[in-house]
Amino acid sequence: MESRIKQRVVIPTRYGDVEFCTFSNLSSNTEDFALIFNHADSEVCPKVRVHSECITGDLFASKKCDCGDQLNEALELFSSTSGVIFYLRQEGRGIGLYNKIHAYQLQVEGMDTYEANQALNFDHDSRSYIAAVEMLNALGMHKIKLYTNNPDKVNQLHNHNINVVDICKTGCYLKPENIAYLQAKVVKTNHKLSIGEVI
Ligand SMILES: [Zn+2]
Repeated sequence: MESRIKQRVVIPTRYGDVEFCTFSNLSSNTEDFALIFNHADSEVCPKVRVHSECITGDLFASKKCDCGDQLNEALELFSSTSGVIFYLRQEGRGIGLYNKIHAYQLQVEGMDTYEANQALNFDHDSRSYIAAVEMLNALGMHKIKLYTNNPDKVNQLHNHNINVVDICKTGCYLKPENIAYLQAKVVKTNHKLSIGEVI
């Protein structure tokens, strides 16, 4: 069954008025949602960030990753201009919070983020962006400008008929605590991060 918009409601936030949008029939079976800033869904080619949940980073500003920084960058840019954030509830690259915490423990013991996931019998990245495609279709958005460093995200959207006309790199949020994590993203999954320029 096709995904459709379920509810839309404007909520006042520290980023101004943000329209929260829920959907029916998402194949993810999780409560994914869209945050729409300044009616961006009615634009010809809106700015979009597809963001996967990271409770430690998004909510508690963990320094072990760059998720919270990337989310905040989109919140600030889109609230001052326009755009849509699709928030996908696939915590810990799809393995869930408890497993992510377990993987962090393995990293304390010397593994990198990908090796730790494999040691727990997960793929290094279990994320799917199909729910984002379903939400984009429900909102009638087929042509977008995507804010990401992740080539797999671009490919998955492309393969499902979303026309990504422009790819904007997000910032490189390097910290002593996340250098190893960011380097692993560049080396193992070809993320477009200019770590060398920053160091
Ligand atoms: Zn994170």
